[in-house]
Amino acid sequence: KLYNQVQDLKGSIRVYCRVRPFLSGKSSYLSIVDRIEDGNLSINIPSKNGKGCKSFTFNKVFGQSATQAEVFSDMQPLIRSVLDGYNVCIFAYGQTGSGKTYTMVGPKELTEKNQGVNYRALGDLFMLAEQRKDTFSYDVAVQMIEIYNEQVRDLLVTDGSNKRYPFLKIRNSSQTGLNVPDANLMPVSSTSDVIDLMNLGQRNRAVGATALNDRSSRSHSCLTVHVQGRDLTTGTVLRGCMHLVDLAGSERVNKSEVTGDRLKEAQHINKSLSALGDVISSLAQRNPHVPYRNSKLTQLLQDSLGGQAKTLMFVHISPEPDALAETISTLKFAERVA
Ligand code: ADP
Ligand code: MG
Repeated sequence: KLYNQVQDLKGSIRVYCRVRPFLSGKSSYLSIVDRIEDGNLSINIPSKNGKGCKSFTFNKVFGQSATQAEVFSDMQPLIRSVLDGYNVCIFAYGQTGSGKTYTMVGPKELTEKNQGVNYRALGDLFMLAEQRKDTFSYDVAVQMIEIYNEQVRDLLVTDGSNKRYPFLKIRNSSQTGLNVPDANLMPVSSTSDVIDLMNLGQRNRAVGATALNDRSSRSHSCLTVHVQGRDLTTGTVLRGCMHLVDLAGSERVNKSEVTGDRLKEAQHINKSLSALGDVISSLAQRNPHVPYRNSKLTQLLQDSLGGQAKTLMFVHISPEPDALAETISTLKFAERVA
């Protein structure tokens, strides 16, 4: 217990893994997962002399049958610490199709049962704020930002037009805690407010997409929840924020096959994901130099990575053997930041 508190004071980095179930029609495949035991994930790797296995260790592994509620309940303490003034970052990492958006948002047909972390986290914050209302008064507001090709855009614009939205600047303003002060900051007080805003953000994300390309898999989207709590007796104000980040797909593209815009996108994604890996691994190793400046993503999240802030890297993998190479590369990324 005490150990946990000390850990809490220092901030922390946790790494979770989730294996997506087979998509319908593909269940005849053999899963690459050999075994899941506590925080251990054992992967089948075909080799010349039959089969081999490789093991990876996480703080937590969720198998194919894990429900959204189970996944959320393991993240709950982290989310709740935002009300106590901590900054929290939760990243969904993995190749396109591995289930990142499913974890953070949910499937296309959303129900209360299958909704993802974003909705549950806000619902939980509202519930706790209500429980504490005799001692604290909380204000909650959200921003939603997209980083595409190292350019930052606001996803909560309401004019409904299809025009290109202006690119925004990142400023590290410790005064207000707003790192993108020009992006809309929307006060929210109920889960239904949040659902409306998330729908708006998802629509705006789609507006930028060309017919051919699903842009959402090649941009990072970040839902930031700003919480300000005032102690009603002492007047002390606590500020915490939570960044819920659905990262761009981590798959490597074959440079001989893609050119032009697609290659440029891939290079930007590559650069920002490795910059994120570099930042988290230097924090994990308590390296005094943390290279925040190497990407827009790490600049944006600088004050919520390191120090007393808490980080959860949630890696996602597909169970299909034909995704094995990408899966191994995802697991190696996870190993590096743990
Ligand atoms: P990503 O965001 O990583 O590209 P998605 O979240 O869009 O991947 O998932 C790809 C497909 O798999 C979607 O149709 C999604 O609904 C489904 N899926 C992903 N994870 C799960 C899960 N845990 N349970 C059921 N379906 C899932
Ligand atoms: Mg997605």
